[in-house]
Parts: sequence; structure tokens; C-alpha cells
Amino acid sequence: MVRRLEGALPPGAVIGVLGGGQLGRMTATAAAALGYRCHVYCPDADSPAGQVTSRATRAAYDDEAALSAFAAAVDVVTFEFENIPLATAEFLAERVMVRPRPEILRICQNRLREKDFCRQNEVPTAPYTAVADLPELRAALGRIGRPAILKTAELGYDGKGQARLDPETTPEAIWPQMAEAVATTGVILEGFVDFKMEVSVIVARDARGARQTYVPVENKHKQHILDQTLVPARLPERVSEKAEGIARHLAEAIDLVGLLAIEMFVTADDQILVNELAPRPHNSGHWTLDACITSQFEQLVRAVAGLPLGSTERLADAVMQNLLGDAVESAQEALRDPRVKLHLYGKAEARPGRKMGHTTRLIPRG
Ligand code: AMP
Repeated sequence: MVRRLEGALPPGAVIGVLGGGQLGRMTATAAAALGYRCHVYCPDADSPAGQVTSRATRAAYDDEAALSAFAAAVDVVTFEFENIPLATAEFLAERVMVRPRPEILRICQNRLREKDFCRQNEVPTAPYTAVADLPELRAALGRIGRPAILKTAELGYDGKGQARLDPETTPEAIWPQMAEAVATTGVILEGFVDFKMEVSVIVARDARGARQTYVPVENKHKQHILDQTLVPARLPERVSEKAEGIARHLAEAIDLVGLLAIEMFVTADDQILVNELAPRPHNSGHWTLDACITSQFEQLVRAVAGLPLGSTERLADAVMQNLLGDAVESAQEALRDPRVKLHLYGKAEARPGRKMGHTTRLIPRG
């Protein structure tokens, strides 16, 4: 007879994953190592995650018959990207355990709710305010100052749905670009942060409240898309500790079961301002696959399956390089360096800016 840890799913149990991208793919391989099966639910054919799982549902996120069948076929549900419709997560949560819980998705899907949540929990962010029309934008610019950034409250990522207001930009010229977002998800104005570094921290929390953080890492973007992650971030010890403390605090406050990635700005005087929260594995945590005792993907599986969290200890320093678009064509070249690990996501079409894979170069710790 299989003996399982109290509160844990037994080997052979099925983890449902909403979304079929690379984060789902790497979660599914980590789940397999622990003896679990993943059932991927996504609307796309030949998805990166679908390629590595034997169970998959290809259906729209609002297909209630397909969602009901999915709920009946899995033991727990998690998600690999946060733009899953909230109604989908709520529909499933009435039928099967969803981790992280849908309320976390609701907060993290919307920049205004996300920042309000930080403010309520005394976590600093850039100054921000919701703006509903042009007079409100003018008033908000008066309070926040310039430069400032207008952002759609929802569905913007990698710099999409953003417009910067410099001293010479006229609000009238920018406002029409935001018309659609104003009518649908809302828009917020944020003060521009003159940061010296962008960092992120990933925290895991299990259902018993145990928490583990990964070391803060430094993120370099190109055209608003993550290009490189340097591990660890080049920060003084006390600033790193502060960043990890913020992550632990937010994980507790949001009652997380799973992973939360927190993107932060560090200013010249070492203030930390939270920019975004993502309740899922994160691109800036891919290095953990090769350089930590427990990867972020295994950690997610452990948290949602009720297993004890693993150690986040770092065995090596690392540089993670995203392979975007046609950079994937020369991906194998990287393997000439024996300390480089290559991960490809199985995507057929290398559109510009598309995340096709990544490499991690391991650097022995001095
Ligand atoms: P986001 O979609 O909020 O992650 O923003 C994408 C990128 O735009 C960030 O990684 C930053 O490089 C930049 N950015 C976003 N918000 C601000 C801000 N308030 N001040 C300065 N840069 C920002």
C-alpha cells in the first residue's frame, strides 16, 4: 500500500494546470519527478505544456462542460499565467481545490487592486492613482509629477498598454491611446521611479503557513521584455534581506498557497518599491531549475500537493539568458560552454520577442 505524508496527495494524483505555456511545461516535468501527473487545460493545440503531459484538455476558458470534466479529472488545480479569466478559476474552485485561491488571482490581475493591496499591508510602491478621464489625468499629473507612466489596469504585460508622460508630453495626445482600456479595465497613473536596479523575489508558502524565499535576483530588460537574470542581485546584504522580508510578508498577507513572484525597483538610496505581483512561477526564477536544491517549479508542485517545501538553497550563482524570437536558432551554440544548461520550450514559430527557451550559466560560488 502506498503510504503518503499526512495532507499530501499520493503519487499518481493529478495536478490540473490552467495554461499551456513554458511555465506549465516546466511545472509538469517537476510534477512527474515526484510521481504526479499533470492535466493541462488550454485553448491551444500543441502547447509547450501539452507536449510533456499525457492528459490535456483543449478548450476555451469559458467552456463550462469542459471545465466541469477537467475538475472531475484532477485532484487540485493551479495556473501558470494570471490572465486566466477569474470566472474560470471561481467556477473550478466550486468543484475542486484551486491553489493559489481565486481571490489571489483577482488581486494580481489588476494593477490598482495589486497596489491597493500593497498599500493596505504597508508595502511601498511608486505613487499611483486611478484615472477615469482627462481632467482626472491632469489633476493626477499635478500631484504625482512627471515623468509618469499611464498603464492599463489589466492585461498589460512586458510594457504593453503603457504610455510615458514626460515634461513635454501633452495629456491630450496620450489619452486617446488609453480609450479602450478606460472603458474596459481602467487605467492608472504611476510616478516614474528612477531605479538603479530591478529585482525580483519568489516566495513559496504551503497550506500550513511555512514559507521559503529564493535569493533576490537582478533583472535586465530589453524593450520591456526580460532578457537576463543575474543571480544573486548585486545588493548589500541588508537590502536583500529587506526584499525577502517583503516577499514573506506579502505571501502571508495574501494567504498564499503556491508561489508569488514579486517584481521590485531598488532606488539609489536602497529603497524598495514593489511594482508587480505574479502568483505563479516566474521567468526570473528559471535559474532555480539548475542552481537550487529545489526549483521554483518543484516548489509549486510541493505547495499545491501538500508536500513539505524544499530547501531554496543556492548551489551556484547563475546568469539566465532568455532566448527570444530567432535567437533560438543558435541556441545549441551555448552548449559549447559545459557550464551552460539549455531549456527549449518546443514552440514551432519564433516570432520576434517570443520566449522560445533560456540558458542558465552556472558560476561556482566563491
Ligand atoms: P510592468 O509591465 O509594470 O512590469 O512594466 C514593464 C517595465 O517598465 C518594468 O520592468 C520597468 O522597467 C518599466 N516600468 C514600469 N513601471 C515603472 C515605473 N513606475 N517607473 C519606472 N519604470 C517603470
